[in-house]
Amino acid sequence: MKTAIITGASRGIGRAEAIQLARDGFSVCINCLERMDLAQELSEKLQKEGCSAMAFQADVSVKNEVDAMVEAVHARFGPVDVLVNNAGIAEQCQIQDIREELWDRIFAVNVKGVLNTVQAVLPDMLHRKSGCIINTSSIWGMHGASCESVYSSSKHAVIGLTKSMAAELALSGIRVNCVAPGVIDTDMVKVLGDETLRDLADNTPIGRLGKPEDIAAAVSYLASDGASFVTGQVLTCDGGFIHL
Ligand code: NAD
Repeated sequence: MKTAIITGASRGIGRAEAIQLARDGFSVCINCLERMDLAQELSEKLQKEGCSAMAFQADVSVKNEVDAMVEAVHARFGPVDVLVNNAGIAEQCQIQDIREELWDRIFAVNVKGVLNTVQAVLPDMLHRKSGCIINTSSIWGMHGASCESVYSSSKHAVIGLTKSMAAELALSGIRVNCVAPGVIDTDMVKVLGDETLRDLADNTPIGRLGKPEDIAAAVSYLASDGASFVTGQVLTCDGGFIHL
């Protein structure tokens, strides 16, 4: 049985990805920052379905917590085959109001968090000459947006990391891709308010906001053998919001 770690998986997109990958046959580690109760509940739900799952609390921005998580996963399920870097934070802010702490925190989670988890799983992947890493950017990682300077910069960096890692690791049998979600109906976008969300849905050619399951399906594909010739790519899932 193959093993996958999904970061930030107690809710939202990460939760849907954990469910999807568990149903695809992976043993899954459901990482959470704080809500171990929700991660544990999801782990138990998946186990009741006959899937193999565990929950682990770790802040992806803290290297030794990430290392401890990967060690625990290794001990329970064996080496990690698929790493899904989903954990992320966002905060809207005008340029003149950006505080150093906000910049540092968003980059610590959204960018350094990716490096931390990749460095933790890489020794095993290099040794086995096999692995799949799926990062999470955003449509704002490909385009700018008002009041999104920090988040957008961090998500552009995720694409840079993805492409550089893909180039460096391809010959070692490790594929690195990322998903770029559009507006997905999760807690992260609730701050925008119902009216803005309705406008965003109206401006989406497909006519609705995305669901966490839409991104989970893309991750399922990138993690599958069917994507064995796909690396260094950004898979945009935005209902046509940006590209049509
Ligand atoms: P969400 O806020 O519901 O979930 C984010 C998860 O990440 C939460 O469970 C949170 O606890 C976890 N997390 C935050 N900091 C962490 C840390 N330091 N260590 C471990 N976990 C941490 O948001 P979501 O919409 O499910 O977002 C998931 C990913 O998708 C994020 O990377 C986000 O930037 C990206 N994304 C979301 C949207 C959207 O419209 N919802 C669009 C584009 C990209």
